[in-house]
Amino acid sequence: VSEKQTLGFQAEVKQLLQLMIHSLYSNKEIFLRELISNASDAADKLRFEAIKHGELLENDPDLKIKITYDKAARTITISDNGIGMSREEAIEHLGTIAKSGTKEFFSRLSGDQQKDAALIGQFGVGFYSAFIVADRITVETRRAGLPANEGVRWESAGEGDFSVESIAKPARGTDIILHLREGEDELLSSWKLKSIIRKYSDHISLPILMQKEEWDEDKKENVIKDEFETINQASALWARNRSEVTAEQYNEFYKHVAHDFDPPLAYTHNRVEGRSEYTQLLYIPAHAPFDLWDRNKRGGLKLYVKRVFIMDDAEQLMPVYLRFVKGVIDSADLPLNVSREILQESRDIKAMREGSTKRVLGLLEELANSDEQEQRDKYATFWKEFGQVLKEGIGEDQTNKERIAKLLRFASTHNDNDVQNVSFAEYLGRVKEGQDKIYYVAAESYAAAKNSPHLEIFRKKGVEVLLLTDRVDEWMLSFLQDFDGKELVSVAKGDLDLGKLEDEAEKKQHEETEAQYKDLIEKMKTVLIDKAKDVRVTFRLTDSPSCLVADEHELSGNLLRMLKAAGQ
Ligand code: ADP
Ligand code: MG
Repeated sequence: VSEKQTLGFQAEVKQLLQLMIHSLYSNKEIFLRELISNASDAADKLRFEAIKHGELLENDPDLKIKITYDKAARTITISDNGIGMSREEAIEHLGTIAKSGTKEFFSRLSGDQQKDAALIGQFGVGFYSAFIVADRITVETRRAGLPANEGVRWESAGEGDFSVESIAKPARGTDIILHLREGEDELLSSWKLKSIIRKYSDHISLPILMQKEEWDEDKKENVIKDEFETINQASALWARNRSEVTAEQYNEFYKHVAHDFDPPLAYTHNRVEGRSEYTQLLYIPAHAPFDLWDRNKRGGLKLYVKRVFIMDDAEQLMPVYLRFVKGVIDSADLPLNVSREILQESRDIKAMREGSTKRVLGLLEELANSDEQEQRDKYATFWKEFGQVLKEGIGEDQTNKERIAKLLRFASTHNDNDVQNVSFAEYLGRVKEGQDKIYYVAAESYAAAKNSPHLEIFRKKGVEVLLLTDRVDEWMLSFLQDFDGKELVSVAKGDLDLGKLEDEAEKKQHEETEAQYKDLIEKMKTVLIDKAKDVRVTFRLTDSPSCLVADEHELSGNLLRMLKAAGQ
């Protein structure tokens, strides 16, 4: 396999490249962030493998990234001495999109540049963004541990195909050589490159090096020296003090860990001491990823042990219902050779998960209860994007159920629109004199809920009813019987007891009516014997002649429909 091979890109890659080049052009500087981010990931991977196999570090243990440029050749080169790639890996990682959900991704593209750019970000396809500024990319790489003559040169013009051939590469790691497009010469400047690095990649914990330049009086221009200098701060951002990190830097770090092109909605950064010691930097994204509902999706937290990267997507660090949280947890207690299996058993992990769960809930409470409109708007955004997922917590997290219940938001007859922004507390603040229950109706859609005949009597009496239309709602309510001592009652279930809302005169009138229709009801029961469990006179309708209700202890009509749809 030493000869040169030409291979076609996976169809999705071709589409993606087109899209990248057109929709991200106005943001083209991000190519450098993406390539630096990959170099940093490659260093993390090498460090991790080297815990067990020290020989992988060869004689070159100081991991770093070097960025050089050549004005005459019109190239920029990003070099790292990280893990590198074998021939197979180069073909696989740079020619296909490995992530699941590719189809869904493409089906969600809207043609709206801004929205699509956000999707690309979530998709984590940063390497290809280099084609925004380059019309040819050469990648020279050698995987750590392979002999020097098993290097690979991968090359592509970013159209239909790419080539691979074997080369000798004495130095481990990867060089990415960008042959700039016409008109991109502005990037061939040390000042320009440094300013992009400082802007987007300052948080990278590896040193990013560039050659020094000095003014030459004779030549009347800057000349490049052999000596390198570090451009970034080169210390792990989460290990710095909060006061030393700017909001801008927090945002850039988020984009790096979350593969997101948009800034996060909120974050929390803490050093926890005590029984277990760790640092957490947790972010809430501003929009849901396309694979939020993918059951196999792993968590979004990176686990480090004393600054050494251990693993991505450490799902044990967050409960499933907080799977949208991104960020880093750095433990001071775990051993470096920790495996996924050990993680499941670890008491330190359990403590970190509990602590981080509380932090995230605290952060959400801060947004939801803030005096500032801007923060509350953020909570509304959060709810729109992730509310349905948070609801899973009512069933999954017994310990924090009450805190989560306070964070729930619903549509309601009070607002008469489908915006979910009414909390239980707000509902209780408006209840009628004598009302000791929280009423809700669950239906398949907002229109169905709003037009439910069960609501008639409540409308007449001016009693607010929460309109529940998300798929998870009824499942959730099976874990939540009351809020603040007030029972949650479906308006569609059983004998509707309006409690003190019904006055004495009404009760008497109802009894009389029931007596009057006794015979008719008996006849109907006989006719409907196979179809209805019971037939009753009802006072909950004001306009409709009749309605179906579920027995108090039975599954509701809506839940039955859902279970049937799910094949149960
Ligand atoms: P992502 O970083 O989200 O995986 P990218 O498109 O940025 O997506 O990179 C694709 C893959 O190519 C990476 O996951 C990695 O396996 C490989 N890769 C890219 N750059 C490097 C590098 N400098 N060193 C080693 N592997 C790399
Ligand atoms: Mg990447």
